[in-house]
Amino acid sequence: MTEFQGEPMLPVQDDLTIEQFILDGQHPTRPRWYGQRPVLVEEDTGREVSSDELRARIHGLTNALKIRWDIGHDDVVCIYSPNHIDYLVALWAVHRLGGIVSTSNPMYTMDELTYQLRLVKPRMLMVHPSVLPVALKGAQAVGMPLDRIVLFEPLSGSPHQNIQNLVDFGLREVQQYTPLRLGPGQAKKLALLLLSSGTTGKPKAVMISHYSINVNIVQIAQHLRLNDETVPMDSKLYRPGSVTLAIIPFYHAYGMHKLLFGSIFFGSTVVISPKFALERTLQSIQRYKVTHLCTVPPQVLLLCKSPIVAKYDLSSVYFLQCGGSPLSAELQESIVRILPKCTIGQGYGMTEAATGITYCQTDGRLRAPGSVLLPGIVARVVKADGSLAGYNEPGELYLKTPSASLGYLNNPTATAETFVDGWIRTGDEVVVDERKEVLVVDRIKELIKVRGFQVAPSELEGHLLDHADVVDVCVIGIPDDYSVELPFAFVVLSPRAQERIKGSLEETSRARQEIMKHVSDHKAAYKRLAGIQFVDAVSKNPSGKLLRRVLREEAKELLKRG
Ligand code: AMP
Repeated sequence: MTEFQGEPMLPVQDDLTIEQFILDGQHPTRPRWYGQRPVLVEEDTGREVSSDELRARIHGLTNALKIRWDIGHDDVVCIYSPNHIDYLVALWAVHRLGGIVSTSNPMYTMDELTYQLRLVKPRMLMVHPSVLPVALKGAQAVGMPLDRIVLFEPLSGSPHQNIQNLVDFGLREVQQYTPLRLGPGQAKKLALLLLSSGTTGKPKAVMISHYSINVNIVQIAQHLRLNDETVPMDSKLYRPGSVTLAIIPFYHAYGMHKLLFGSIFFGSTVVISPKFALERTLQSIQRYKVTHLCTVPPQVLLLCKSPIVAKYDLSSVYFLQCGGSPLSAELQESIVRILPKCTIGQGYGMTEAATGITYCQTDGRLRAPGSVLLPGIVARVVKADGSLAGYNEPGELYLKTPSASLGYLNNPTATAETFVDGWIRTGDEVVVDERKEVLVVDRIKELIKVRGFQVAPSELEGHLLDHADVVDVCVIGIPDDYSVELPFAFVVLSPRAQERIKGSLEETSRARQEIMKHVSDHKAAYKRLAGIQFVDAVSKNPSGKLLRRVLREEAKELLKRG
């Protein structure tokens, strides 16, 4: 086998913004029943937003952003919020002005937010009140005037504008902007800057164009064959009246592309949930007769293990998609017992590919272990010796996709490492079987994924080296039943610290706790270290590169020994 590929892809116009394509674009892959339901529903209140109301709100906010702040072409605006009914309004208002949106994880600490603000240099911040204190410190750290912060919701006593006020203001005023129109050949107009650490190093801003997103939506839509009369309606993965519960955060490519853009394009109503919490999620599934769940493996595990699941009627769910990390065969078997009539499918993707790469089979089988390449994608599996793998032989996945992002912002070195001669190096080890199903079997790149969240080892290593006791360090991922992986550090202590702890279990434990606290004080909760092993030296090759695979094996041995 040299290369393998998905089916040929239908053409996609390159002159539409994401909003124009999703709300109004004509494409043969768009289901015929699109547009008959409310587009969005707010989980807590049940408030429904139709496509007309959505357009009106976007118009109001766009006008206000233009009048008040003169946001324009290629200006970056950062969104720092949990999922919210106005997330799309904020996103598409910026896009209408030709601006670029960079989304931040609402769990970020001030250090992490500041890092992103320095990287993408936004002119404005749109912030949920729950994270305003962090946003204020971040804005101060980068010298952003505080009147550039807009709140997602009113906050009493706050001097900041909020989206509702701005929508009302913008709707009252005469339109003072011209919505972005892309000419043919403007396939590279940037829409998004999403953070990913890629194959190595600290988080970087992935440059994603409007066209990349639209292409990826068509790739999935074509694969779903929603308008194909030969596929019986009751075996289609989206049907008229479908309802998707959005429990994956929108700041991440999976949540934003699949849950917001994709679901709307596939004709689904999206119930916007600010966060996954098992009981609340179960209540919403029952209340809104949810048909689609997009999940990460820890959520599937909770659904399988928690006794409260039996109290709820989940019979409306007919498609559960899982992505972000591998879904084991055992977990797939277990969830089928909870949702016996539901199709369970894996999707595999990567921010740099914007975003879906493989998708579960749509052949009526209720579950399949792997997933197949989306249309228009060409893939190679490259073995460690550089030769190409055959069926069932593991190797690194390289791919070419028309949805590819445009590289990393202001980082040609990292871009050249991941985007090689038109191929994206995924850094994932896969096998492909004779049915062309792709199974991700391991990760070659440095990245650690904790409950679907990216943790860049070098970010934690850099931070740990700031601690006075640490002179060398390597962070790797160790397997965890719930979180899939957790960060674990091999630490070389300074001679002074070594002297201090010599022979004392109490001092050793104190040193360990202090270093763990150094991480938990400054980093989001999911980046906390699961453990630390003090060592004399961390394994490196002759040129000084950390031997992460060796250390991962060492960690496994340590864990076995307890
Ligand atoms: P992100 O850019 O945050 O979506 O992370 C992309 C990475 O997550 C991939 O390169 C994989 O390492 C991992 N990943 C995503 N989906 C899956 C999946 N279904 N199975 C295994 N790994 C996955």
